[in-house]
Amino acid sequence: MDARLNWTGTWALLKEKRSVLSAHYDWEKLVRRMELLLRLKSFPVAFKMLESKADLEEIPFIRRPKEPVTLCQLITRVRNFDWTVGAEARDFVGPVCPSIIGLSDTPELVKDGTFRSIVWVRTKADGKKYEESIPRLPLGTYEAVAMAPLVYNPFDPDIVLIYANPAQMILLINALQFEDYEVMQFSCVGESSCSDAIARCYLTGKPSLAIPCYGERRYGHAQDEDLVMALPPDLMAKALRGLETLYKRGIRYPISYAGAERDLTTSYPVAYGALDQLTAIRGQDNRLLVGVTGGIASGKTTVANMLREMGAAVIDFDVISRQVVEPDKPAWKQIVEYFGRQVLQEDGNLDRKTLSEIVFNDLEKRKKLESFIHPQIHVQFISQLNDITARDPDAIVLVVVPLLIELNLQYLFHELLVVHVPQEILAERLALRDGISKQEAENILSSQLPIDEKVGYADFVISNEGTLEDTARAVSTLWEDLKKRQQEKTRR
Ligand code: ATP
Repeated sequence: MDARLNWTGTWALLKEKRSVLSAHYDWEKLVRRMELLLRLKSFPVAFKMLESKADLEEIPFIRRPKEPVTLCQLITRVRNFDWTVGAEARDFVGPVCPSIIGLSDTPELVKDGTFRSIVWVRTKADGKKYEESIPRLPLGTYEAVAMAPLVYNPFDPDIVLIYANPAQMILLINALQFEDYEVMQFSCVGESSCSDAIARCYLTGKPSLAIPCYGERRYGHAQDEDLVMALPPDLMAKALRGLETLYKRGIRYPISYAGAERDLTTSYPVAYGALDQLTAIRGQDNRLLVGVTGGIASGKTTVANMLREMGAAVIDFDVISRQVVEPDKPAWKQIVEYFGRQVLQEDGNLDRKTLSEIVFNDLEKRKKLESFIHPQIHVQFISQLNDITARDPDAIVLVVVPLLIELNLQYLFHELLVVHVPQEILAERLALRDGISKQEAENILSSQLPIDEKVGYADFVISNEGTLEDTARAVSTLWEDLKKRQQEKTRR
């Protein structure tokens, strides 16, 4: 067996982690959303090993098999019939299934390869090798197994099983790899594929993808296109975050075909098509572009101003977005032509309140408004950037963009700085600054990506939770780091 499949260490850790994490999950909400994003055909399965068979009786709606069963028959009763099921060693039809999940020992005729050589391999020696390759839970820890649709919060699962077709599965893998990227490695022992998924996931603590075996298709009714992934429960939230973000970036299921004979330049994700534009923005000189973002009122301007005094150049998208809609500017003209003079104040300036009310619940109008404003912001951004870098090709340029991550613009910059203040304090500061209630401030903040999630994208984080003096100290260290980073870039 693979030396990494170290039962005691990994599993003890997983158990500890699970008991801390399980309380936090609202499985119903999470599973329903995942079912929708992946259009899953069967229920994700909560899978749990029980130390005492008496614990089976504690599980609501549990059904015990009346006839001998295989493990994969039980799984399909959960994922397709919507049942909660439980079994102990004596409920299984033969010795192989319970031996994989540690409920019974492997008989000598299985261990020595005889069993596999009856059908699946040529010699007993091959059969022995086969048996030795199958990951199994250790014997003596558990007396029973329970499974139920995860969506009902039936119990704290040890692992979760998701059945999906290959297109859904690659999106699930992409989603799991979105944060803290890691290559996923999977195994295939052949028959007894439940060991590839279930036992391997238990033993490694990592997601484990498997091709359901012949037996699972014949007895467990896995469909031709089915794959299965077993994953630790704490990765479900990570998978959902990944799916949500990819969805926003246009990566969705079902995957729509772009057309095998079409010119694909217009079908590529925007970021791919924008690579030329990206090269132009980053330039051929030694400029260092730092995107600056955070929550509303987290102190982006405060930090940018401190860095400006130290020598950085600053471009502020908030300022530009106000300038481009000043009376008689191109975007102002397009807005008035489309929305009418109802969106103007008496002095000709935009009546922002009326305009935001109009677009608040009307996606089409909001997109129209953005189509007038965003290209003009882009023009101004490029023009300011060119001015700065013409004066100083070594400039460190801070570009303050409040919704930088929500708009998926992080790829434009060499580095990303997030100005962080805990959500709770953020709401207080916003309420104080704008003279609104804390509840109103929380509502505004809830329309943005949570600030802690933004931190995950950052190369640099400045905590602006303390006094301005604390922040100024952190900012001067940051400035030294940015200068070093810029010099490294110059040397390359
Ligand atoms: P917006 O999202 O509205 O553009 P912002 O992220 O640029 O805001 P600032 O305008 O820099 O945030 O700061 C928001 C408010 O919080 C301001 O009133 C500012 O004076 C105050 N502030 C900033 N940093 C601190 C701090 N460390 N302690 C107390 N108040 C602060």
